[in-house]
Parts: sequence; C-alpha cells; structure tokens
Amino acid sequence: MASGGGGDEPIQIMGAGLSGLAAAIILAKAGKEVHVHDIREDSGARFDGDFQGLENWTSDIDFLDELRGWGINPDEFKVTPFHEVDVIHPDDEITRAWSPKVAFRVIERGTAPHTIDQGLKRQAIAAGAQIHYNSRVKPEDCQIVAAGPRDTSAVAFGEIFETPLPNHVAFHFNDKLAPGAYAYLIVIDGIGLICTCLWRKQKKSERFLNETIAWYDQHYPELNRKPIKRVGGKGDFTINQKYTIDGRHYVGEAGGLQDFMWGFGMRYAITSGVFAAKDLLGEMTYDSEVRKKILPTVITSVSNRWLMNRVGDRVFKKIAVNWHRDQTKRQDGLPYIANLFRPDLKRKIVYSLFGRWMLKKVTTDDGRTVHRLPFRKARKRDVWDPSTEAQKVKEQWKQIRRGGATTSFGEEE
Ligand SMILES: Cc1cc2nc3c(=O)[nH]c(=O)nc-3n(C[C@H](O)[C@H](O)[C@H](O)COP(=O)(O)OP(=O)(O)OC[C@H]3O[C@@H](n4cnc5c(N)ncnc54)[C@H](O)[C@@H]3O)c2cc1C
Repeated sequence: MASGGGGDEPIQIMGAGLSGLAAAIILAKAGKEVHVHDIREDSGARFDGDFQGLENWTSDIDFLDELRGWGINPDEFKVTPFHEVDVIHPDDEITRAWSPKVAFRVIERGTAPHTIDQGLKRQAIAAGAQIHYNSRVKPEDCQIVAAGPRDTSAVAFGEIFETPLPNHVAFHFNDKLAPGAYAYLIVIDGIGLICTCLWRKQKKSERFLNETIAWYDQHYPELNRKPIKRVGGKGDFTINQKYTIDGRHYVGEAGGLQDFMWGFGMRYAITSGVFAAKDLLGEMTYDSEVRKKILPTVITSVSNRWLMNRVGDRVFKKIAVNWHRDQTKRQDGLPYIANLFRPDLKRKIVYSLFGRWMLKKVTTDDGRTVHRLPFRKARKRDVWDPSTEAQKVKEQWKQIRRGGATTSFGEEE
C-alpha cells in the first residue's frame, strides 16, 4: 500500500502524461521528492503531433488563468486561441459560431518541444521532479495513478497533412462520418488535422476517416492536402465508486474523468492532477474535491451522452440551428455550449433515471469498481459503401504509406 505523502517520504506517480505531470509540478514546487514513472519512452509518446482543443466552457474562469493560479506556466507550450469555429450541419450547411471570449485553444500533443506534454515535462523537471521513462511500477506502490485510458469507450482517427489554408477550425455534426459523435478540421500554421470520432464500434473504421477526408476535400477545396501521417487513439469513460483507494488517488482518464459527450478530457486531467497533489500537501481531500468540482460536470456529460445515443442527424441539425439562433440573440456563441456542460436539475434526473444504467459495472485489475461507458455496437445505418472520392483518398494514403508515412492505429481497429 502507498504511504500518505504527508511526510518527507518520496511520492511515486504512475504516468507522465497531463495529469501526472500537473501533479508532479505542484508537488515538486512544494519541495517534495517526486518520482514519475511512465511505461513509454517519453511524455506525449501516446500521441504523435495531434492537435487537441483545450476547452474554455466548463467554467467561467479562463483555463490559462487557472493554470497560472496553480503555478503552471502555459507559456511553456504553444497555444493558439480561437474565438470562432465553422459549425457544419448534417445537411452540409456551414454556419459560424463566434464568441468575444476565447472559446478554446488548440495545443499539440506529442514529443516535439512545443507540445503541451513537453511543456509540462520541462516544468516538472525544473521544479525538481524525477521522471523515469520505460519504467513499470505497480499502482499499489504509487500515491497517484495517472496512467490514462485502460479500456475503450470511443475512438478517434485522424490524418495530419500540409495545407496552405490559414488557421481554421471546423466542428462537424454528421452521424454517417462520425457515428454518435462529430468530426473536425484543425489547421495551425500550415499543418492540418482532419479527424473523426466514433462512439459506435465499427469494422474497417478507417473508411470513416477516408469518407470524412473526401468530404473536406470537396467542401474546403483550398485545403490542398499533402498527407504526412495518420494518428488516433482511444478514450476511457468511467464513473468510479471511489477516487481515492488505500491512499492512492486516481486522476485523469485513469480515474475515468472524461467528457462522456465529446471527449474533451484534458482540462479534467490537469485539474484532477492538481487536486491530487494538493491532497498530498494537506490542502484538500481529493475524493471530495473531485465529487464537488469535477464529477457534476462529468455526470452532466453522461446524461448528454445518453441523449446523443438516442438521436441522429435530425437532432444534430436541431442543435446546430439552435446554437446559431442563441448566438444571434446573445451576440455570443459560447453560452449555448457552456450550458450543455453545466450541471442542471433536468440532466441530473436524466442521469438517475437513464444515464447511469447505460454504464457497465466492472472490476478493474487493481480491484476497483467502476461503471464504464461501453463501446456501443454499430447500427444498421453504419453499413455503407465508400464513395468514389473516399476510395481515391484511401488509394492516396496507400501510396503515401508505401513512401514510409506512419499510422499510429491498426487499419482494422
Ligand atoms: C485522438 C484523441 C483526441 C483527443 N482530443 C481531445 C481534445 O481535443 N480535447 C481534449 O480536452 N481532450 C482530447 N482528448 C482526450 C485527452 O487526450 C485525454 O483526456 C487526456 O490526455 C487524459 O490525460 P491523462 O493524464 O489521463 O492521460 P495521458 O495524458 O494519456 O497520460 C497517461 C500517461 O500514462 C502512461 N501510462 C500508461 N500506462 C502506464 C503504466 N502502466 N505505467 C506507467 N505509465 C503508464 C502513458 O504512456 C501516458 O504517458 C483526445 C484523446 C484522443 C485519443
């Protein structure tokens, strides 16, 4: 069993990703001896240059101000703020969501110096934390478990490419291209990412990516894609019976702290890492802080996911239209999205009556009871033949791959 961390004994953290490094920064800055262990060769190695959106809608506090308040410096990694996004409706209409506030920021994941992973790693090391890569430890020997996803509730696949298009983000509601979820386009400084998220398990899932890319080639002709590589990964969404067990704090996706609706998990990961560190410093109780500050939003996202699982393009269209109407009324598109994520009585009831029953009770290898969002089965409507354009995209990728380009997920995943 891990010892408390209240004294001078070294603190062991399992996982040098966002949540583990955030915890390490706080603890090392407070003068603790901190050891972070990761099974991979570097922080960010789970990703490979993917762009991700750091949301700014689950709280009224700007996330970068929150980071600074905790002593984490966001200037250590590249951040590109966005006030607007193309909203692509299921019938291909494109409207623009806009906010006078920074709605979200795009950061890069991976091992390059400007990624968020490396930015946090530098700060942890500068504060005195020791990071051990290719190091395998047992959860029982750690005070913080920050090892990311274990199982699969959903997956995302993307292609990274060169493009002359200026910085741009598009958010795409389309149940054919992205079953139960959404697809997106992100362009930052000449590099683009087209990604599709699948909340239903599919055979030959790469066809969804090819079809999505074909859609963007057709509707954004100025993209002029030159593919570099394909990337992807899984998400693990669980509600846990306990967040602290035998003095061990489960943070980030290892604690199931994810956005069940859309997978915006980075903010929860960093926040939970900070809370776990503050618990070890005697400043708060991790389990109750998670239940007070993070879980209500996560539970709201479970209700949203339950509702999303029941609908298709007709309701996605309604959401896109209502979002635009609300923005016209308020002259701000952010409150509509913020309200989707903020806890309210309606969603609390949906969670109690329906949402929680869609989760599957499982016992993890380390003996914890969690309720996991199962990776749903495909529906009849997910079976379709690829378009001619998507087949050309597939052929193009085959050629590029023969030239040595990499893909970080199996073709049949
Ligand atoms: C393709 C994709 C796109 C995404 N896009 C977004 C987005 O746009 N916005 C957003 O907010 N979120 C997004 N997410 C979710 C986000 O990446 C995660 O929520 C976040 O990384 C979770 O942080 P974490 O610290 O829990 O895990 P990670 O940051 O993944 O860190 C976990 C670390 O633990 C290590 N590890 C694993 N097993 C062990 C072990 N046994 N022992 C030691 N170390 C171990 C791993 O190597 C890794 O370094 C996306 C996820 C995917 C897969």
